Formats: sequence, structure tokens, C-alpha cells
Amino acid sequence: MRVGVVALQGDFAEHESWLRAAGHEVWEIRRPQDVAPGGRPPDMLVFPGGESTVQRKLLADLELAEPLGELVDGGVEVLATCAGLILLAKQVDGRDNPWGRLDVSVRRNAYGRQLGSFVGGDRVFIRAPAIESVGPTVEVLSELDGKPVAVRQGAIRAYCYHPELVWAHNRRL
Ligand code: GLN
Repeated sequence: MRVGVVALQGDFAEHESWLRAAGHEVWEIRRPQDVAPGGRPPDMLVFPGGESTVQRKLLADLELAEPLGELVDGGVEVLATCAGLILLAKQVDGRDNPWGRLDVSVRRNAYGRQLGSFVGGDRVFIRAPAIESVGPTVEVLSELDGKPVAVRQGAIRAYCYHPELVWAHNRRL
């Protein structure tokens, strides 16, 4: 696949390494002209982990919110981890998130400490959001203690944990 990674802040480089190793063509999106280079939009968009408040501000300041929102609305595959899930959630900490597209309500900083912790052996939670409720079109892919931690709505897949860090960790073993 041709994958555009939103590379404004956070662990975009780990997502890039992971997806490149899996054989995908990967580039970084930092400016509006990176969204569809040569007029070719990506097959998949990645919203990495990091700090959602900073990422949300940069999306707006760098004029990426609108073109990326249009791609998501057009049905591009989306992979969102942690802060990426927060960006896409329609409700964050009890408030409406105007840019949100994913029908979930999240609470920020619900799981894990700053330096991260392995939970369940294969899922890494780093100050991760909890998914408190999901809408009728949202499928739960994975749970922790009875709460959803990975969800899918159409072409959007979103994770509270960090699959890219598990990949990086396993590769170092
Ligand atoms: N705590 C961060 C936030 O609220 C998310 C943490 C992460 O992406 N690992 O945006």
C-alpha cells in the first residue's frame, strides 16, 4: 500500500519503520502538498501516538485538518494509535471534538505511566486514552478488562495501545 504518515509530532518514525518493514511505500505528511503527492492520495493514512493537544493545534496551524478530514470522509484506510485515536474521536473528556470522525467517546490519560508499561504481554499502553463508549457502527476488535482498546468503524482502525512499539521491541530481542 501507499501510506501517508502524519508526521507532526510523536512516534511517527516508529510507524514508518514498522510499515516499511512490512513492505509498504511510506511518506511523511507535514504540509498540505504532502497529502496527495503528484495528485495521488494515499491508500492509508496513519495518525501516530504522541500528544493529541499539540497534534490538534499543528493540524489546524499547518492547514492539514481540512484535506486530511476530506480523505478520511472519502473512505481512505486509517490507522490511528493513541493520540491519533483521540484526534479522531467524536467525544474527548466529555466534550465534542469538532474534527472527530470516529463514533467513540474517550477519556485521556487513563492507562499507563509516562514511561509505559506492558499490559497483557503484547499491548503497550502509554498514558493511553480509555474508550468509554462506542456508537452502533463501531466494532470492538480488542478489549482490556471488559473495555474496548481497539476499534474499527468502516475503514478507520484505532488503538489505545501501540502496535508499532511492540514491533520495534520484538525486533530488538
Ligand atoms: N496522553 C496522550 C494524549 O492525551 C496520548 C499518549 C500517547 O499517544 N501515547 O494525547
